Amino acid sequence: MVPFVDLKRQYKDIKDEVNDAIQGVIDNTQFILGEELKLFEKEFADYCGVKNAVGVANGTDALFLALLSCDIGASDEVITVPNTFIATVEAISYTGAQPIFVDIDSQSYNLSPSRLREFIETNCDLDEKKGLLNKKSGKVIKALIPVHLYGQPADMDEIMNIARKYHLLVIEDACQAHGSEYKGKRAGSMGDIGCFSFYPGKNLGAYGDGGMVTTNNDEMTEKVKILRDHGKASKFDHKVIGYNSRLDCLQAAILRVKLRKLDGWNERRRENAAYYGSLLDSSKITLPFYDPKISRHVFHLFVIRSDKRNELMEKLPSEGISFGIHYPMPVHLTGAYSHLNYKKGDFPVAEKYADEILSLPMFPELTKDEISVVAKKINGML
Ligand SMILES: *Cc1c(COP(=O)(O)O)cnc(C)c1O
Repeated sequence: MVPFVDLKRQYKDIKDEVNDAIQGVIDNTQFILGEELKLFEKEFADYCGVKNAVGVANGTDALFLALLSCDIGASDEVITVPNTFIATVEAISYTGAQPIFVDIDSQSYNLSPSRLREFIETNCDLDEKKGLLNKKSGKVIKALIPVHLYGQPADMDEIMNIARKYHLLVIEDACQAHGSEYKGKRAGSMGDIGCFSFYPGKNLGAYGDGGMVTTNNDEMTEKVKILRDHGKASKFDHKVIGYNSRLDCLQAAILRVKLRKLDGWNERRRENAAYYGSLLDSSKITLPFYDPKISRHVFHLFVIRSDKRNELMEKLPSEGISFGIHYPMPVHLTGAYSHLNYKKGDFPVAEKYADEILSLPMFPELTKDEISVVAKKINGML
């Protein structure tokens, strides 16, 4: 059996440090908004190269509270991609805003700057006072959420140029991209605000749920801090109706231990990806695109494409090889978003790729032997 992810192998390597960290929190009993959280927020902000980081309950809440801190609500629209985990789009919906999709780049699988420009030029008017008006709906498009999918940053220079020109705020969905870099800058430090998930299987994973918002903007930082803790601006002062969305100190203490290992683990993922690349038959499948001159991919997922994807899906389980599909259905075609009235054919690249993608086993502790077994079996099936 080659597992898709094996968190037990990682725990074995860090067991003593993690157990000590957990015991420390239990001993001091500061479980909520305690010292471990403050330390982790500081360390994670430094790691990402931003001024501030605010711990929240999960990645979906990081996106939701980030959007709220940008004053996004029911009269607004937010642009994102259709090929993401549905949480990106759910967070937009929670604010009452309408999600708008733009297709992806055929090489990187991330938001296409040229499709974005085309969408805006065709459908919008820039009003210097109100912002970017969607001519069809009459609503204001206030923000843009690029997703750094699979661990590779989106084309942020182009995206930021377009965003600044059209007065759009940029919220990075960095939930799959802890530690990845674009032209030397870390994911979560390039837009107005960055969002991370510490779901256990992510590159930096908690032992439960967790999330983080990163930003250089003090006002947004303050807003997220207030929103995550019942709207509390100070003791006895509930300024707004907030939420209960805090990162607890047991998770923060575990994440502090793991943050120190993250760069090493990401390096192992890159080595594993390179090894896959040297073994898989690239005349028959499309390997992940990665240009090390521009970015540092952290391979949260190792995703190949093949027109025989469904055949592979049928054959792999009996060979003992686990896999994933990220994601089998673009969000605009899901039942949850049928009310937006998008249809098949609206985003041809995202739709085509959804039928061709396959995520192979990928985690830092995956062995060379396991990678070569997977690659040999796959080559043999094509
Ligand atoms: C994991 C993930 C999220 C949501 O994170 P949770 O912590 O599970 O809420 C959002 N966006 C993307 C791209 C993700 O991969």
